[in-house]
Amino acid sequence: MSFKENKTEITALGEFGLIKHLTKDNKIKHPETVKAVGDDAAVIDVGDKYMLVSTDLLLEGIHFDLTYMPLKHLGYKSIIVNLSDIYAMNGLAKQVTVSIGLSNRFGLEAVEELYKGITLACEQYNVDLVGGDTSSSRQGLIISVTAVGEISKEKVTYRSGAKFNDLLVVSGDLGGSFMGLQLLEREKSVFSENPEIQPDLGGNDYVLERQLKPEARKDIIEQFEQFQIKPTAMIDISDGLASEVIHICDQSGCGANIYDEKIPIDHTTYQLARDFELDPSVVALNGGEDYELLFTVAQSDYDKIKNNPHFTVIGHITDKASGINLIAKNGTSHELTAQGWDAFLRKEKGL
Ligand code: ADP
Ligand code: MG
Repeated sequence: MSFKENKTEITALGEFGLIKHLTKDNKIKHPETVKAVGDDAAVIDVGDKYMLVSTDLLLEGIHFDLTYMPLKHLGYKSIIVNLSDIYAMNGLAKQVTVSIGLSNRFGLEAVEELYKGITLACEQYNVDLVGGDTSSSRQGLIISVTAVGEISKEKVTYRSGAKFNDLLVVSGDLGGSFMGLQLLEREKSVFSENPEIQPDLGGNDYVLERQLKPEARKDIIEQFEQFQIKPTAMIDISDGLASEVIHICDQSGCGANIYDEKIPIDHTTYQLARDFELDPSVVALNGGEDYELLFTVAQSDYDKIKNNPHFTVIGHITDKASGINLIAKNGTSHELTAQGWDAFLRKEKGL
C-alpha cells in the first residue's frame, strides 16, 4: 500500500484534531475503563480506588535540544512532565516506566547522567521506577515515560467538571519556561555565529530553572487535601494557559472570562519578555511547559483560595453561548484563541 496517493496533510488537523480523528471509533470493551482518551490521564477502576495512567514521548530536536539541556535535567524533566498529568487528575503518582532509544552518539556516561536525573525525580516525588524498554535509535535520543497513580473515587477531577459561575484558578506563575527557552535559543544562535562570545545568562536563574528543571505541583494536590478544597475541573498547563482554558471549556460545555491583569507573571519573566519585545501576557497565555495547574472551584470554596499565595483567581466560568473571552486591562473583551508556540512567535516577531 502506498501512503503517497491521496495524502492528507496532518498539519491541517492539528495535534488535537489528529488525536480525535484517530480515536473516534475507539470502542471501550471493559467496564473498568472509566475514562479513556481525552483527559490528562486514563482512569481505571481497580476496586476501591481508581488507577491513573499517563504517557508522554520526548524526542531530541522536537522537545529538547542537548546543546543547552544537560542530560541530568532532561531525565528529571521527563519524569516531571508525566507526574504533572497524574496530579492534574487530583491523584498521586506511584510508579513510572521509562523507555529510551539511543543513537550511537551516546555512551554509558551520558545515559548514566540521564538516569541520575530520573532517579532524583523519583526520589523527590516518591515514585518507583518499575520498568521500561531500551532500544537503539537511528537518530537522536528518544524518551518515553508512563506514569501510574491513584486517586480515591470521589476525588478524581476531570477536565469536564466546570460549572457555571465557578472560579478559574491557576497555581504559581506562567510564561517563565517559555522565556527560559527564548533565552537559551538566543544564546545558542549567538554562540553558533561567534564561538568566542560566552553565553550571557546572568540574572535569569528563575526562567532557566523553569525551562531546564521544572517541578510538578504535587504540593498543590496535598494542599487540596489539607484545606478540603474540591476542584470541579482541572488540567495541567503544558501547552499554554489559553489552550488549557479552551480544553476545560470545551469538555465542560461552558464559556469563560479570564482577566489579563490577573494572570500571574513573575517579574523576571515580565522583564525578559519586555527585553525580547514580547507582550508578557501573550507569553503567559501561549508559552508552554509551565506545568502549573489550572482548575475551577465553586464560589463557596473562594475563602479557602483567596489568601493562599500559591493560587491566583484569573476569571470565572460562564455559559457556552458567551464564549471564551480574555478581558483586556482596558476592559475590552476578545475571544481567546490558542496559538501554537511557533505561530505565536512568528506573529510577535512580524514574520
Ligand atoms: P497532555 O498534554 O495532558 O499530555 P495530550 O494533549 O498529549 O495530553 O493528549 C490528550 C489526550 O489524548 C490524552 O488523553 C492522551 O492519552 C490521548 N492521546 C494522545 N495521543 C494519542 C494517540 N496517539 N492515541 C490515543 N490516544 C492519544
Ligand atoms: Mg496534561
